[in-house]
Amino acid sequence: MPNDFTQNDDWLRYAKEYDAKDSLSSLRSEFDIPADKIYLDGNSLGPLPKKAKIRAKEVIEEQWGKDLISSWNRHDWIDLPTRVGDKIGKLIGADKGQTICCDSISVNLFKLLSAAMKINIGRKIILTEKGNFPTDIYMAQGLQSVLGKSNCELVCVDKDQIASSLSEDVSVLMLTHVDFRSGAIHDMKRLTQLAQSKGILVIWDLAHSVGAIPIHLDDCCVDFAVGCGYKYLNGGPGCPAFMYVAKRHQTQFQQPLFGWMGHKNAFAFSPQYEAAEGMAQCMTGTPAILSMSVLDAALDVFTGVDLLQVRQKSIALSEFFLTLMKESNLDKTLRLSSPLNSEVRGSQLAFSHPDAYAICQALISKGVICDFRAPDMLRVGFTPLYTRYEDVYRCVSCLFEIVQNRHYQLPQFQIQSKVT
Ligand SMILES: *Cc1c(COP(=O)(O)O)cnc(C)c1O
Repeated sequence: MPNDFTQNDDWLRYAKEYDAKDSLSSLRSEFDIPADKIYLDGNSLGPLPKKAKIRAKEVIEEQWGKDLISSWNRHDWIDLPTRVGDKIGKLIGADKGQTICCDSISVNLFKLLSAAMKINIGRKIILTEKGNFPTDIYMAQGLQSVLGKSNCELVCVDKDQIASSLSEDVSVLMLTHVDFRSGAIHDMKRLTQLAQSKGILVIWDLAHSVGAIPIHLDDCCVDFAVGCGYKYLNGGPGCPAFMYVAKRHQTQFQQPLFGWMGHKNAFAFSPQYEAAEGMAQCMTGTPAILSMSVLDAALDVFTGVDLLQVRQKSIALSEFFLTLMKESNLDKTLRLSSPLNSEVRGSQLAFSHPDAYAICQALISKGVICDFRAPDMLRVGFTPLYTRYEDVYRCVSCLFEIVQNRHYQLPQFQIQSKVT
């Protein structure tokens, strides 16, 4: 049966109608998004917020450029990690004084894993999911190599084995809230409670949830968490991450990377380390002021934005995408690897196809930016702050052409770059 998907302009009309009715649509003007690109990869690297560009110029030219070292006090660079931390705290349901912006997720995980193992001394297992993001697994392997396998053992289980693996010898449960490949969401409250009922401490990685879906760390009684600044928070490539330590753990908490910025009195230059109080002890070395300032400005885009509305639009965008996949019959070629139920799915859709890499490259060549995750997944991210329903339509119609004409089979789309 011939498929007239691209001939039928009803879908484009619907998309434009949805955009016209969208109460978040004005937020798109907060970003610099190239007019010739459809950007569906904000879950990997958020685009440039206009506020961030202004702030970068100001910090470089006015602060660093003119006030030099006095900026640490004059522009309060020294407290930037706590200020940015508390700003992120508002997006993750954390009261003040529990979130700090510093280092990368990887480094922060090492700090949290070590500190948690120390609190739960006598238990040796770190439990995680086989499909967790590799760096999360690697950091636990690294800690195991430092502590020795008889003191620290990483156990990776399948998703459906997590609950039944929560035994009394598990010290820490470390999970990523939204699966980076499939977008499947874990039930944070239920798993946290279940683990804690066995005396297990819980670390949540919020890389693919912060800024995209409402999170309630305090309400869920979470112990520890980490998250990224450069994905849905739009803080720019490689900007610092954040970590959360629940207030109730902060006196007992001790992370092992004794950096001078985490010292009680860094400028006493004492030879003996003494941890600062509260979240300040999570710091290691000098904060990356340039990129943290950019993140700080990027976070202001969220001021007054209701994350429930963001979530609703994200679901609507992904449901529209799935409808178009079905209408175009593309759902027969690209198999959905994400949960069908939007309630348990983050702000992305993943589709598997043996030539997913080439399809992704062909889309990029046409200005539709999404990404590929090995071994065979095409990943499409929806960021309600700037993604339009029209973008969804354009992406699917582009995908339709590429697949129908087998355009992706051209040799230039088969070449693998370093970053996918
Ligand atoms: C992106 C991502 C990271 C990145 O870690 P960095 O150390 O900040 O580079 C970690 N975990 C998950 C789940 C991610 O998606």
